[in-house]
Amino acid sequence: MSLPIYLIGARGCGKTTVGQALSQALGYVFNDTDHYLQLTTQRSVAEIVASEGWDSFRARETESLRAVTAPNTVIATGGGMVLAEVNCRFMREHGQVIWLNAPADVLADRLEHQPEAAQRPTLTGRPIAEEMGDILRERAHLYRQTAHHEVNAMQSPDRVVEQILQSLSLARA
Ligand code: ADP
Ligand code: MG
Repeated sequence: MSLPIYLIGARGCGKTTVGQALSQALGYVFNDTDHYLQLTTQRSVAEIVASEGWDSFRARETESLRAVTAPNTVIATGGGMVLAEVNCRFMREHGQVIWLNAPADVLADRLEHQPEAAQRPTLTGRPIAEEMGDILRERAHLYRQTAHHEVNAMQSPDRVVEQILQSLSLARA
């Protein structure tokens, strides 16, 4: 039995992409808190926020973190998971936490090139690169404090996986 691995970082840093590849490399299960929320509520993040507000969404997010936590699991977390201290503590106590770090312009560029269906309106209606800069300024210290390890997410997904395996001293399955 091995502890879960939590991937944290802003939207676009590669939590889903890298998480799936990492889970395959280790023979672990992959789970995603945003996806879990959508499955259990049958609504998108945007719909939950619109109908119940951010506080309710954040409470659901904390529940989803607990629900997906299991041994031998790689968990991609919602970008705002670190905003609640209780979530940060929970992740550090229950597993290994990895921050996928990349600058705002790289994240914005990736999100702008995603297929239409995967895109979300920005929270403020401002250009996504500007908004991403603000988000990182607000959250970088939380990602840094919460993570056991920080990985440069500008490398290819394969390299990111290799670095995570190295920093956790884990071998491919
Ligand atoms: P997150 O789950 O953190 O929001 P995703 O895994 O959905 O991020 O990735 C967002 C976009 O960036 C996707 O289009 C994905 O293909 C691309 N991407 C993810 N990781 C990398 C990477 N290391 N290098 C280049 N593009 C990437
Ligand atoms: Mg994702």
